[in-house]
Amino acid sequence: MSRRRFLKNLGLAGAGLAINPLKSNEQPSNLTPSIKNNPLVISTWIHGMEANKGAWKILSQGGDALDAVQKGVAVTENDLTNRSVGLGGRPDRDGRVTLDACIMNHDSRCGSVAFLEDIQHPIDVARAVMEKTPHVMLVGEGAQQWALENGFSKVDYQVPIPQVQKDYEEWLVQSEYKTGVNVENHDTIGMLALDASGRLAGACTTSGMAYKIRGRVGDSPIIGAGLFIDGDVGGATATGLGEAMIRTAGSAAVVESMRRGASPEEACFDIVQRILKKHPGVDGMQVGFLAINKRGESGGYSIYNGFNYALRNKDQNKMVDAKHFKTWNEK
Ligand code: ASP
Repeated sequence: MSRRRFLKNLGLAGAGLAINPLKSNEQPSNLTPSIKNNPLVISTWIHGMEANKGAWKILSQGGDALDAVQKGVAVTENDLTNRSVGLGGRPDRDGRVTLDACIMNHDSRCGSVAFLEDIQHPIDVARAVMEKTPHVMLVGEGAQQWALENGFSKVDYQVPIPQVQKDYEEWLVQSEYKTGVNVENHDTIGMLALDASGRLAGACTTSGMAYKIRGRVGDSPIIGAGLFIDGDVGGATATGLGEAMIRTAGSAAVVESMRRGASPEEACFDIVQRILKKHPGVDGMQVGFLAINKRGESGGYSIYNGFNYALRNKDQNKMVDAKHFKTWNEK
């Protein structure tokens, strides 16, 4: 896509505004290797490698993208050493681990759960909400009650797990409430897949922000914020400060940019730039987006360095560093 058309698509060309009033380490480019052959799966952060492995078992046998993303992110939910996904995650400030997840397929069917407690696989509940109810989203006690009535069971181990409980008790001493999103290499898992039949699907699951206010729900279970799929176009998912994604309907915005012709990377660049311009207090916070399109091209962009994603297709199984606007020491 030409730079002029990209500007036009963003509504900036006529106004004579520069595409990048903010300093970026790199401009988006069409250089991201185009993966012509599906299947393809990408997912956020290093834990995405194991999750992609789970998804690949299904994709490599010609399976459905929806099954693949569900099984893929369930690998991360199952990992009790992960401190930001599943029941091994950090609790809210009242000491309770509350989980958010959603799933979406190529024909706009979706399901979601938020503020869910004591269930090991929120992603499975999200899919069941999609398939067994006329609704999209269930939350809190109601979500748990519905899950228990529909074949799910409560975990039979201590939550938070003892190691996390110990950290929480240490945190309680100061009880410093920060909405900061960690700079370390672990966070929500968002996964996007394109299967051998060309179907797209996505899934997203998290324990959310550590020591959040009880009841706080981030972007991850919000269709359009933490995840969005349009089977005619592509899909997007996000990680980082969830409030920024909700305020901008971030993942939906990425898909709309791709609909107008932007590459996945350009579309991610666009939304991250918009967040930097519009979201109050985003400085010092991480936000990262991933996207794929129907042609099996993929890309990502983040505010700060350090955001990476796992990519797997027939030829590759690797981590990719997303391009970014800033480095952590230049807040
Ligand atoms: N986006 C998640 C949330 O705001 C957290 C994260 O990705 O770290 O709950």
